[in-house]
Amino acid sequence: MIIRLLGDSNYVYQQSMKKISKLFMLPLAGSVAWAVAACGVMGIPEGKKETVVESTLETDTSDESGNAGGDAAGTETLASDSKKIERVSFPYPYTARALTAVNIHVDSESDSDVLGILDEGAAVSVERNIEGWDQFSVDGKSGYVLKKYLIPDDYIAMNNQFLGADVDLSWIDPTKPMIALTFDDGPKAEVTNRILDSLEANGGHATFFMQGSRVVGDNNNCVKRMVELGCELGNHTYTHDYLDSIPVEDIRSVIRKCDYMVEETVKVAPTVFRPPGGNRSGDIASAVGNLGLPMIIWSIDPLDYSTKDPDNTFNVVMEKAQDGDIVLMHDTYEETAEAAERLIPALKEKGFQLVTVTEMAQAKKYPMIPGNEVYHMR
Ligand SMILES: [Zn+2]
Repeated sequence: MIIRLLGDSNYVYQQSMKKISKLFMLPLAGSVAWAVAACGVMGIPEGKKETVVESTLETDTSDESGNAGGDAAGTETLASDSKKIERVSFPYPYTARALTAVNIHVDSESDSDVLGILDEGAAVSVERNIEGWDQFSVDGKSGYVLKKYLIPDDYIAMNNQFLGADVDLSWIDPTKPMIALTFDDGPKAEVTNRILDSLEANGGHATFFMQGSRVVGDNNNCVKRMVELGCELGNHTYTHDYLDSIPVEDIRSVIRKCDYMVEETVKVAPTVFRPPGGNRSGDIASAVGNLGLPMIIWSIDPLDYSTKDPDNTFNVVMEKAQDGDIVLMHDTYEETAEAAERLIPALKEKGFQLVTVTEMAQAKKYPMIPGNEVYHMR
């Protein structure tokens, strides 16, 4: 059973509340609290799952992620710091799944009565949203869950459909060389910010394939900067999950969890996906394709992660760079930041426009088909 109504589970709920009380007697603050929230998202450890969910629910009522109601597809504008970001809202009703086990409330308030528990992975048909709370029918009654705990089934595909059309190509000359620098495994504030500084100073864009579990604490500011600077947000799963070593049915979940963390931070969903380690078999390709995502691989790999030699990384990229290339690097090493700080102005000097993967696809009219691999766009 996917939706457990209160009865025996009331005991579980009461036990959970007792655990919460204990939890909040601990001096949790800042990044530690974030880490606890992140563990809740991962659903581990099993015995503490509901405790963590409840603690987040009861203390975080300032949810800003909800669609502000409305029944039609379209866009709305949300504030993110000083920058206004267009965000897609979905046509109702749509099917969504629970990111983790969460209480179903009878009203759109965290202190309202609890109707039951929505299990992790349970599907519901969302009828509308009220100030961050998704409403659906359960057992003939209306139930409410904070939107942040539900992910629409067609989330990424729907966002891509809209966001792809929003790419600003006015600054790109499609007749001149362009190259897509991509950075994996971050964000890591002290490294990622150096790369962003250089892109900002030189007027270039890049694509960042992030681990959702790293979109926490100080790293969140990096993601906001990426959006503000026109960089592209990429999905690299939640915890660098190798897709060939998890059950195929879990692929959707590890991709969605990354998407969720990014969207919670900047109200913009990742638009491209890179499988960790580049691992991709037939089953993986079709699972990723079902999410509406192409798999962005690469055509230049300077092995920055193994050599940790900025000179080598710089030289390999400069020697191989051609119009339409996709370069693989990692914004988790200081040495890569050093190489990028030299590469970004040098590539521009050599006549390359530094574009995101999607900008390059749109400028070159290169088809990015869900589930297909993209190595370069020469
Ligand atoms: Zn990686």
